Amino acid sequence: MPDGDPLKADLHVHSTFSDGRNTIEENVEEAEGLGLWALTCVDHVRVGTDWVPEYAAAVKRVAAETPVRLRCGIEAKLLDTSGRLDMPDDLPDGVDVVYAADHQVPMRDGTHHPREVKVDLQEGRLREHEVLEDIVTSTINALTGHRQVVIAHLFSILPKIGLDEANVPLDLIERLAEATARTGAIVEVSERWRCPSVRTLRPFLEAGATIVASTDSHRRETIGRYEYCAEVLGALGVVNGDRPAEGAG
Ligand SMILES: [Zn+2]
Ligand SMILES: [Zn+2]
Repeated sequence: MPDGDPLKADLHVHSTFSDGRNTIEENVEEAEGLGLWALTCVDHVRVGTDWVPEYAAAVKRVAAETPVRLRCGIEAKLLDTSGRLDMPDDLPDGVDVVYAADHQVPMRDGTHHPREVKVDLQEGRLREHEVLEDIVTSTINALTGHRQVVIAHLFSILPKIGLDEANVPLDLIERLAEATARTGAIVEVSERWRCPSVRTLRPFLEAGATIVASTDSHRRETIGRYEYCAEVLGALGVVNGDRPAEGAG
């Protein structure tokens, strides 16, 4: 999917189709102004969402009128360790990519609210390793059986349940990284959530998985503005130095 400078693209931007403040047209106008070469529209769906065809058609319409490479994405939460996602069964062809997100804690028996999981961990009813294992297993299983998958803001759930990304066992991360590379999935570095870390992403790089930058913007003013992503991709050697190279590659 990515070919140009990852920091001159933004592959996770919300619009008024879900909880974004700006329309697809306004977001694309912003991307054009910044000279971005690619933008992926991403809006939140649930299993009962009925506007996906209309949304995909709107993205297609705007894509025909801009030099920015526009993709249509939907973001759905991970539901359980089977890898089920909270999205409609039948997606129109116009949807290019599915963002699998840890908005709740996906476990064997379904999603759990982060607050509950935090208390269960503190009071010893759950063990850290089990919870991490379930999150990673859910993500791995979500990579197959769907079209192009992006792992959205990987491990953004951990601070909410009182865990630190730095303590996730490397073998778990390596399993996820290998599955990501094997399935041709993509992992994003999220400016909004400031995750995943360099330590988490290194196994992805070594496995040959594609890493992209995104802001998870909900308003046009934050589109394509990177600090955390520039730092992380610089440290990984995916981009040169601490500032992105000029040009659209
Ligand atoms: Zn999200
Ligand atoms: Zn999002």
